Amino acid sequence: MAGIIEHFKRGYEGDARYSVAGKGVVCSHCGGNEFDAGAALLNTRGMTFLNLDWANRNATLLICTNCSHIEWFLEDPDLA
Ligand SMILES: [Zn+2]
Repeated sequence: MAGIIEHFKRGYEGDARYSVAGKGVVCSHCGGNEFDAGAALLNTRGMTFLNLDWANRNATLLICTNCSHIEWFLEDPDLA
């Protein structure tokens, strides 16, 4: 994973619940449902070389406030 995150910033501060595709986001590690949100720019030069420019885009990171596991989404999660 190292090397593809060129930009990372914290989004909303504090605990919040999110949903993606109409389903509440639940931490796959601990089952928690409160997250901090962040954003990462995925700038994968290898993907550009392979003409996969769609891979160069922002991802949303939801960081579990309980165990710090990170869930990645290419869609923007909705606040639930
Ligand atoms: Zn967790």
